[in-house]
Amino acid sequence: MQQTLLALFAHPDDEAFGTGGTLSQYAAAGADVTLVCTTRGEVGEIAEGTGATPETLGEVREAELRCAAETVGVRELIFLGYRDSGMAGTPENADPRAYVNAPADQVVSQLVGIIRRVQPQVVITFEPNGGYGHPDHIAIHHHAVAAFHAAADGPRYPEQGPAWQAARLFYTAIPRSFFLRMRDEMDALGMDTSGFARFEEGGGGGWPDEQVNVVMDVADAVEAKWSALNCHRTQFGPGNLFRRLPEPTVKEMMQREYFALAWPEPEPGARFDDLFDGM
Ligand SMILES: [Zn+2]
Repeated sequence: MQQTLLALFAHPDDEAFGTGGTLSQYAAAGADVTLVCTTRGEVGEIAEGTGATPETLGEVREAELRCAAETVGVRELIFLGYRDSGMAGTPENADPRAYVNAPADQVVSQLVGIIRRVQPQVVITFEPNGGYGHPDHIAIHHHAVAAFHAAADGPRYPEQGPAWQAARLFYTAIPRSFFLRMRDEMDALGMDTSGFARFEEGGGGGWPDEQVNVVMDVADAVEAKWSALNCHRTQFGPGNLFRRLPEPTVKEMMQREYFALAWPEPEPGARFDDLFDGM
């Protein structure tokens, strides 16, 4: 079986940390990997020394994602061309071009067309909170879930081609234990960890560990993942948290990627060896 994987995200770099190793590992094994990015990340960070400006950031980040996608072996990279909506509560939220202001039906229709054309067995997107609540992450989550199901429903969006039922929908979901480990590593270096209280039991931060269904061992892809992360120069600058931890520690932590099976709904506590396990 030709393995076909489709990842749906909102910004250049959304794919990098949580799924870069997985995309790379499957691509290296011959899988057909497609990545959709709904915006060009126009209002992201601009790391020092990159030469980007608020005016050029979208263009720069498009190139950064092309670099990262090539590094991990993505066959096709698709930009939907909406504008980055910015963090919650910022003026960019109100921009009429902002992704969050796009009519859901318009986005879902495009994603349905992509799913029906690419015919993936496995689709990946953000979990409902998008990792940390970025409005664009939450938007792609909703649009991806809607499109996953609509693509399988022939009478819906007939102009987008014949129905396709993908076998599995996964959420990339970084578990609470990962953040606690990070806090411990930072504590050991005397760094400020006051922002980590929300990852304590009951704090609501991070994905519940018991709801992780796949822990991908991507040790073989860590170098590719690291190179891909380094393509995202404007976002992965010297001030980035992962740059401030020792590189061997970061690479060790990057060897595992975490997914929750969203559809079909798994038995509580179900574990799979990888995203295509048993298919
Ligand atoms: Zn993002």
